Amino acid sequence: MERKIFHGKIKPVDIAQALIGEFNQGNLRAQTLGQSDKMVVQIGTTPASISGGKTAITVTIQKWEDGVMVELGQQAWLGVAASLGTSALAALRNPFSLLGRLDDIAQDIESLQIGERIWQVIAQTAKAAGVSTELSERLKRVTCEYCGTANPIGEPSCMACGAPLGKAQPNTCPHCGFVTQPGDKKCRNCNQTLA
Ligand SMILES: [Zn+2]
Ligand SMILES: [Zn+2]
Repeated sequence: MERKIFHGKIKPVDIAQALIGEFNQGNLRAQTLGQSDKMVVQIGTTPASISGGKTAITVTIQKWEDGVMVELGQQAWLGVAASLGTSALAALRNPFSLLGRLDDIAQDIESLQIGERIWQVIAQTAKAAGVSTELSERLKRVTCEYCGTANPIGEPSCMACGAPLGKAQPNTCPHCGFVTQPGDKKCRNCNQTLA
């Protein structure tokens, strides 16, 4: 399961609508479940699709501190891989038999790329809404442990009381947007090494 966090003014419905707009067409059907704070978008091949194996994937979008968290579930193959396997075997035995399966193979390759396309649509939607995996302005504040004043990130000491702020500077993982803790060497969400 892959998840990313987008910080800023964006709602789960914004991403859900973008995914429906992109994927509820052609050989695919997309539908949303749930309401405002937690929405699930299911994307899958239509029962009527004439080529390729069946596949389905679930995207969970929920309200998160100052933004949304998006989780991409495991893609269920429901025959996509099997269909590719049969095609490959058939081609070995009789090259001409492959001709009738070209549509299936093209469709399966398209299906294999759904996860990537989903992240692309989400990234575009986030960009259009002006949000990113970087910290939002509000989270880009360090609260002074001593007096509770919110200070901008990077300030060495509290604007109000002068107490040192050095060890409390929050940041996010550049890969997935998860808020990291000072001293973290790897992201606790995606396990990428942090600079
Ligand atoms: Zn202070
Ligand atoms: Zn990460």
